[in-house]
Amino acid sequence: MAPRRLKPDQITEMFRRFQAADPAPEGELDYVNPYTLLVAVVLSAQATDVGVNRATGPLFKFVDTPEKMVELGEAELISYIRTIGLYRMKARNVIALSQILIDRYGSEVPRDRAALEELPGVGRKTANVVLNIAFGEPTIAVDTHLFRLGNRTGLAPGKTPLEVELKLEKVVPPEYKRHAHHWLILHGRYVCKARKPECPRCLINDLCLFKEKTVSVP
Ligand code: SF4
Repeated sequence: MAPRRLKPDQITEMFRRFQAADPAPEGELDYVNPYTLLVAVVLSAQATDVGVNRATGPLFKFVDTPEKMVELGEAELISYIRTIGLYRMKARNVIALSQILIDRYGSEVPRDRAALEELPGVGRKTANVVLNIAFGEPTIAVDTHLFRLGNRTGLAPGKTPLEVELKLEKVVPPEYKRHAHHWLILHGRYVCKARKPECPRCLINDLCLFKEKTVSVP
C-alpha cells in the first residue's frame, strides 16, 4: 500500500503554524563565520550539537580560518575534539579540507554544492546545511529527524534520506523552504521524538497522518 501523504493545503497550513510559532528558527551549532560553521557541521556527524559546541567553544576562539587550522595541525586539533565521536577521522578531514580551501578557494567556503561535496568529510547533508545557514539558500538537509518526520507525518514519505529530501523540495511551498530544515529538526528534537513523540502538545497534531500518535506526554 502506498504511504499516505499530506495534501498541499495541509502542508501549507503545517508550515504556516511552524512560522507563527517560531518566525526565525536557528540551528543549535555554534560558529563565528562560514568556515567555522563548515567545521562544526563536519564534527557533528553522529554527535550531538551540545557535545560539538563544548569542544568548539575554546577552539574557535583561536582558530577561525583555514590557515590557523592547518597551522594548529592534526595532533593539536585532536586535543580539542577528542570528546567527539570519530574524532581521529574528523580531525584528519578538517585539516585536509582546510588545506583544500586555501589551495583552491582563496580560503573561502565555496557557495557551490559540488565543490562542497568534494571536500573530505562533507556529504550532501553537510553541504545542504552550509548552503542554507551560511548563504541563505533554500536547501533542506535531511538528517535522522527530518527523515523520521517526513515519513511519520505524511509530509514526504521516502525510503532513503535523498528520497525524502527530493520530495520535500517538491512539496514545501517556496516561501517556507528557507527555514523548513530548522523547523523540522527542532520539531523532531523536542516534540516528535524518535521513541515517544509528544503528540498531545504537538501543534500539527490534527494534520499529521501518523497512525500511532501518543495520547499522554511523559
Ligand atoms: S502528532 Fe505526534 S507523530 Fe505527528 S508530528 Fe506531532 S508529535 Fe509527531
